[in-house]
Amino acid sequence: MYPPANSGTLTPVEAGQSEEKQKRDELEHLFDLDDDEVLKAENPWMRTAPVELFSAKNAGADDLAGDSPRQFMLFYRHFFPAKPYFEWLNYDTLNAGTSIATSPSRSFMNREFSFILTNETFMRYQSFKNMEDFKNELARLCPTRIDLGAVYNIRPKDKNMVRAGALVAVSKEMVFDIDMTDYDEIRTCCSGGDVCIKCWEFMTVAMKVIDAALRDDFGFKHLLWVYSGRRGVHCWVGDERARVMTNEQRKAIVSYLEVIKGGTNQVRKVNLPNTLHPSLRIISEHFKNLVFSSQDILTTPESWEKILAIIPDEAVRAKVREDWEDAPGRAPSQKWENLKNIIGQNIDTPKKRQQLENIPRDIIFQYTYPRLDDKVSVDIRHLLKSPFCIHPKTGRVCVPIPIETCENFDPASAPTVPRLVRELNEYDANHPGTEDRSKLQGTMKEVEFEIFINVQPYNWQKTSLREHVEVFEKFVKGIQRDIRAKKRDDASRSVDF
Ligand SMILES: [Zn+2]
Repeated sequence: MYPPANSGTLTPVEAGQSEEKQKRDELEHLFDLDDDEVLKAENPWMRTAPVELFSAKNAGADDLAGDSPRQFMLFYRHFFPAKPYFEWLNYDTLNAGTSIATSPSRSFMNREFSFILTNETFMRYQSFKNMEDFKNELARLCPTRIDLGAVYNIRPKDKNMVRAGALVAVSKEMVFDIDMTDYDEIRTCCSGGDVCIKCWEFMTVAMKVIDAALRDDFGFKHLLWVYSGRRGVHCWVGDERARVMTNEQRKAIVSYLEVIKGGTNQVRKVNLPNTLHPSLRIISEHFKNLVFSSQDILTTPESWEKILAIIPDEAVRAKVREDWEDAPGRAPSQKWENLKNIIGQNIDTPKKRQQLENIPRDIIFQYTYPRLDDKVSVDIRHLLKSPFCIHPKTGRVCVPIPIETCENFDPASAPTVPRLVRELNEYDANHPGTEDRSKLQGTMKEVEFEIFINVQPYNWQKTSLREHVEVFEKFVKGIQRDIRAKKRDDASRSVDF
């Protein structure tokens, strides 16, 4: 089911059509479809120009447009927030937050990384000894995509040195993947790979609802929301309790959260118990704006028919349709009130009550409730694109989104490498005396460098990446607080005995 452990080429020149398709199917199982274009050789954004070394200082932002190999290289060398990233995946607190190199833990060393390279080579089961090893490989390979897999019982790199089946996944963050393509049947402004600020509201609702449920209903505390770089969001739950869950436990959480179910042919997809679901408050707030205004569902028969189709009683459906057609120009909010009234007037038997009573609520759910890509969540070995990748099609960095202000996030404004380079050059021009950290490495004694470097800002701190890395750092620090508390508890318990 999974591609081989070592690197292989995605689209072999001589491979037959069926073999290629089979490979694609395997890959689509492993990756979210959001990024299927990564795998296409004809992607115009991916130039295969020879890669040279550039410093961010000398790179003109304008020259960079369309030169993706250079963009990846500049990003990994100058902007990738390696330290907090390493501290996240390390899940330990030894030397954390100091300039002393943090000792790598098994969580880091046994973590599977997967890379896709510019030439479309796909490398699974990569693992690294420490942060330097990881950083060096990033700078050397410049992957167009980084995915994170599980933490295994042994180093994934050593997979081929042990007997088959000896590599066992032991932990991974609980993850969620929400993709705008799953909203194509209900959104009217865009389709396919496109998103705009109007349909992005579906993602805002999704983040709010899933975040609230994970915190309130499951008690998780450490949640990171990340823009997927194009048309979706990912959530990483870093609580220890979440990381050690079995696939069955992950499945149970997903089915609790999955209210919208059924294929495209099933008209009514909501399958709610009669008791009120706690997310109704959040989605009701957004329903009006989405359906009445930004998606404009109730203005033309073409789109309002989809809403009418959810009403199971044919006679009632016809009455609402007739009513709306009677004065199609009235405000959407008025049409919605009319629908609710007509349904209410037609509840005259217990059977009708059971059939119709919750229809308005179910319409609200169907048009606003998050649609999860569940295969990503329920298999601990499933790969998910890492935060701080660059989406090869849009050139946008996959940045963390603060949940408190998620409605202000505009995907079109996510940082791109040309913009980061421009911002860095502007900052340095306005702040003489700050130096490019990466250029100073090796120019002075290590001790001097450590002292010097501690007062120098990181390049990401000089750019619009800063606010996103700070969201990430807050997430990492929260996890570290819990780890410290647990260590204290363990220590005091051992003293007690
Ligand atoms: Zn749109």
